[in-house]
Amino acid sequence: MLTGIHIAFIGGDARQLEVIKKCVKMDATVTLIGFDNLDSKFQGVHLKELSEEVLNDVDALMLPIVGTDEEGNVESIFSQNTIKLTENYLSNLPKTSRVYTGMAKPYLKKMCSDLQVELVELLDRDEVAIYNSIPTAEGTIMMAIQNTDFTIHDSNVVVLGFGRTGITVARAFQGLGAHVRVAARKPEHIARIYEMGFKPFHFDDLDKQVHDVDFLFNTVPHMVVTAKVIANMPHQALIIDLASKPGGTDFRYAEKRGIKALLAPGLPGIVAPKTAGIIIANVLTRLILDQFGNQGGEQ
Ligand code: NAP
Repeated sequence: MLTGIHIAFIGGDARQLEVIKKCVKMDATVTLIGFDNLDSKFQGVHLKELSEEVLNDVDALMLPIVGTDEEGNVESIFSQNTIKLTENYLSNLPKTSRVYTGMAKPYLKKMCSDLQVELVELLDRDEVAIYNSIPTAEGTIMMAIQNTDFTIHDSNVVVLGFGRTGITVARAFQGLGAHVRVAARKPEHIARIYEMGFKPFHFDDLDKQVHDVDFLFNTVPHMVVTAKVIANMPHQALIIDLASKPGGTDFRYAEKRGIKALLAPGLPGIVAPKTAGIIIANVLTRLILDQFGNQGGEQ
């Protein structure tokens, strides 16, 4: 339980509701900032405005999954007001407090580092990335179906990258009856891809492996789907780039060649905000329990 622990939330989207719900259920003291239009009523939470005093007894500050922008603005779908997080506010956090977010921009990283406040990026964590790969794969299937007029079954799929997202995507499409090839660069990954029943190949051979591809899914956050690769792809092929912005595809050349290429960021929050929120809620509450030395709390 989180009894006696004060958690403040600033802004967020539908995912944050699941996190708030779990913190309330675990008996934390919860303050919500930037939630003035919130429809759902949580029992016992305090709705407040951002002020210098509001953070001074907060044990954990939860920001939206995207943290702040480069100017410190915090997005909230639950408020029309602009919320800007500056040092003036954050410097009031107790030194034992932690700031949690999904992924932090340099602005937030620098501010936390200057103020010596610990910053935890939840999406960086292995377990979060693996859980999130499930709604990501489901979102990829949804986009694949929406953007083609043929079945996934019996199609030729190429997955680039054999990390947390690539593995789940490869397995999901294999489960739907596709012929799945996976590109990697490490020999141990090539071996594991083979062991899992996919066809492995090295990135060096990518341009030779796409001549019959129907779906190409990229998870590598570097330019790998180059003009040379796209030039060897058939016209009906669909590229879905899952890597973080700006992706790893030469979108300009794909358009020139008439090959549909889609950048698809943030799929968990789009296709399954409730599940994505529960994933964050479970990890956040466990980390807060660890922060306060309690290993035995509810999960
Ligand atoms: P990950 O576990 O680190 O996997 C990344 C993969 O890319 C690894 O297999 C890595 O191989 C490979 N790689 C990295 N640089 C490479 C290069 N220069 N050439 C060839 N391969 C390279 O990351 P992840 O969690 O799967 O996430 C992958 C990307 O998807 C990230 O950009 C993440 O932000 C994004 N993502 C998007 C969504 C969405 O909704 N679209 C959801 C979740 C994640 P090595 O082991 O050889 O380095």
